[in-house]
Amino acid sequence: MSLRVAFDIDGVLADFRTAFRQAATDAGISGRAADSDSPSSDPLSSRDIKAIWDHVKRTPNWWTGLQPYEPGQLVRLYELARRWKWEVVFMTRRPSTEGDPVQFQTQWWIEQQGFYYPAVVTVPGSRGELANALRLDVVVDDQLLNCVDVVGGSTAKALLLLRDAQDKTAQDHAVSRGIGVVSSLEEAIDVLEHLHESVGERRGRLQRLADWFGGARKPQETTLPVPDKNRVHLRNE
Ligand SMILES: [Mg+2]
Repeated sequence: MSLRVAFDIDGVLADFRTAFRQAATDAGISGRAADSDSPSSDPLSSRDIKAIWDHVKRTPNWWTGLQPYEPGQLVRLYELARRWKWEVVFMTRRPSTEGDPVQFQTQWWIEQQGFYYPAVVTVPGSRGELANALRLDVVVDDQLLNCVDVVGGSTAKALLLLRDAQDKTAQDHAVSRGIGVVSSLEEAIDVLEHLHESVGERRGRLQRLADWFGGARKPQETTLPVPDKNRVHLRNE
């Protein structure tokens, strides 16, 4: 059995915070900086936030302009997924903007980062229900509430990506609920690799017996080729 993994996008792969701050400037809202990707906990007034979101929604394909937090990690994830036959899903609740559908904008952006043919689901509801319906093994998210939802509503494990190492409260809440805490996407993918290896070790004896009875393993070339990395064109080139 290969791993079935889901990644949240904003705050995990994409630097929403910086892009939203820029949108505030572009919308003519100066002074206080947008400080969170959750409108409810943002220090800006609700009127300001609405004005910024209106600006975002009027900007064609706004979601394609975000910067990746960790360039190179999506290439790494793609290569590992192909090598170990992981099934990867990207989940988001992004609102739509002018231009292409939010699903297509997000797929386009993920491909630009080097992960080909990404499966993107734009489901607004519970992450726990989604994890259950998709039979996920692991979900990586930067919001504690989403992680709590996942472990409460499914058998999937949750990994909370906390880029702010000072946030001990969220860390303690997560750990007390059996949620893993990582500080980067790189570390989250490291955890997946360890998980893959430990699942492999448990299955090792059975696999060896199957090899004895079943003869040689299937040749590796039964999988499709990995696309040429040169196909990745970064926006600034
Ligand atoms: Mg997020």
